[in-house]
This record gives sequence, structure tokens and C-alpha cells, in this order.
Amino acid sequence: MRAIVLDDSVRIDSDRSAPTPAGDEVLVRVTRAGVCETDLQLIKGYMGFRGVLGHEFVGVAESGPYAGQRVVGEINCACWDCETCRRGLPTHCPNRTVLGILNHDGAFADLIAVPQRNLHVVPDAIPDDIAVFTEPVAAALQIPAQLAIALTDRIVVLGDGRLGNLCAQVLASIADDVLVVGKHREKLALLEAMGLRTALLSDDLSPSAADIVVDFTGSASGLPTALKLVRPRGTVVLKTTVAGAQTLAWAPFVIDEVTLVGSRCGPFDRALHALEHGLVDVEPLIADRFDLSKGLAALERAQQKGVLKVLLDVGQST
Ligand SMILES: [Zn+2]
Ligand SMILES: [Zn+2]
Repeated sequence: MRAIVLDDSVRIDSDRSAPTPAGDEVLVRVTRAGVCETDLQLIKGYMGFRGVLGHEFVGVAESGPYAGQRVVGEINCACWDCETCRRGLPTHCPNRTVLGILNHDGAFADLIAVPQRNLHVVPDAIPDDIAVFTEPVAAALQIPAQLAIALTDRIVVLGDGRLGNLCAQVLASIADDVLVVGKHREKLALLEAMGLRTALLSDDLSPSAADIVVDFTGSASGLPTALKLVRPRGTVVLKTTVAGAQTLAWAPFVIDEVTLVGSRCGPFDRALHALEHGLVDVEPLIADRFDLSKGLAALERAQQKGVLKVLLDVGQST
């Protein structure tokens, strides 16, 4: 099969053996995959990952109870046996592998092996180009899964990139007052076209006014900015990782009694519901598409300024 493989460098392997499914896994024939910031970080050495890249995908199950149906797959492969799993936290399983990120081959390939229990059937109303956004939309929906958000909450989203955009849409479907703060006029213009309020980071922003600030900047300056904008007893949500160590004056957390919430993967069932009912609009994010065999060009394109989502056409679902 064809695959985009990361080892000493990133390359296309057009003659890679199909993955051998482990006991609880089924093979999924990938139809569409999405390039994510994490893929670009992995190529730069993040997590030390080696293998087939890719964790945002939709495809057709080749075996198991969903054989022949379109499916998406949750990315954390838990052991379901340890204390953390038994406590109901499989996404935090210390024995987990993660599709295309940690010790498990990913979806930039004709076939991927996925644990059956990770799979969700895609409703007919959601085309592949939309279904491929299930994983990042689920990550966005993890915020309302972790926090009680009120209609009247004032929310600031820091970051106008791929995930910031999806989260802003999700939060705007819950609260009336959502402001996206970014650096890129063209990305902010896209959000404005979706009816969201935006501001530039260089604008005069009201300090200590937001009930919730979500940081998607992936930069060391994100958390200090969030702390400036959040009100006393407000909440800061960290949604992106920053490589390396950061220094920060932590005193404001104590003085202003600010709650800090880390947030990662989210609920696929809610994401499919949101996509099926148009609660989030993902199509405007698609900047470009490439055949899997042109995958290296796709990865390059995804790194260019102003580009939100690049898709890989892998196969046909019918
Ligand atoms: Zn991702
Ligand atoms: Zn476990």
C-alpha cells in the first residue's frame, strides 16, 4: 500500500506492507485524511514518532461489526485494563498508543488498523470532506465537556488557526459573547464571514474582563496574555502544547484565584452530531487537497502562512 512515513525524514512509501491488525483491531480503508499542526510538529521531532503519520481520517471498515460502513476513529488506543482505564479515563491510559502520534501507525496510508471500540459510524448526511474534521471538532467540544459554560459568559479565544477556528465556532454556539483574537487578518476575515467577532492581538483589549480565555496560540506568550484578559475567579483553558520549558509569574493565579484547565481529546459522538446538524461549518477551512501520492506537497502546503486545512484524497468510499 501507499503511506507517508516518518523516519529519519518524511517520505512516500509506495510499497509498504498493510498493517497487521492486533486482536481488537480492524482494518479501515482510508478515503480522506486531514493534515494537522501535530503532524507538522512530529516531522520536526515532537514525541520522537516514527512510522505512518496521520490521525484525522475517515474511511470504510474492512471487517468487524461495521464492515462496509464509513467510519471515523478515536485516536487513543487504551489497554482498558489498567486502573486509569477502569476509572473511566481511557484517553489517559498510561499504556496507550495513539494513531499516527505514539507507537501506532497512522492514517496517511491506504489502510490503517484501528481498535474496533474506537470506531464510530459516520451518518450518511456527512460527506467525507466534512467527516474528516470529526477529530478536531471533538477536541473543540472537549471544552464544553470539561467546563460549564453559560449563555452570558464572555469568552476570548486566543489564536485564529485550525483548532482556534473550530473552537470559536463551538463556543459561539453556546455563549453569545465570543471574541477571537489573532494575528492573521485573512484568518480573522474568515471567522468574521462566519459571524464571529474578532480582534487583532495588537488591538486594545479589555483587561481582566473575560470569564473564560482559551489559549490556542501554541506559543509561550499565550498564557501570559490569557492571564491579562481573564477576570478574577475566571478560567483559562490551555488547548495547545508549547515545546520546551516556559517561565511565568504564577502569582496572578493565586491573587486573582484563576482556574487553569488543560484540555485535549474530546467526544466523537458529539462531534458527529455537530457536523451532521451544521453546528460547525468546516468547509471554509479547506484550503487545498492533494492525492496521497502527492503527500509531501500536501505537508509543505499545510506549513504555508494563512493555510488552514489541507486534505489528502486517499480513496473512494463507494
Ligand atoms: Zn490533530
Ligand atoms: Zn489502560
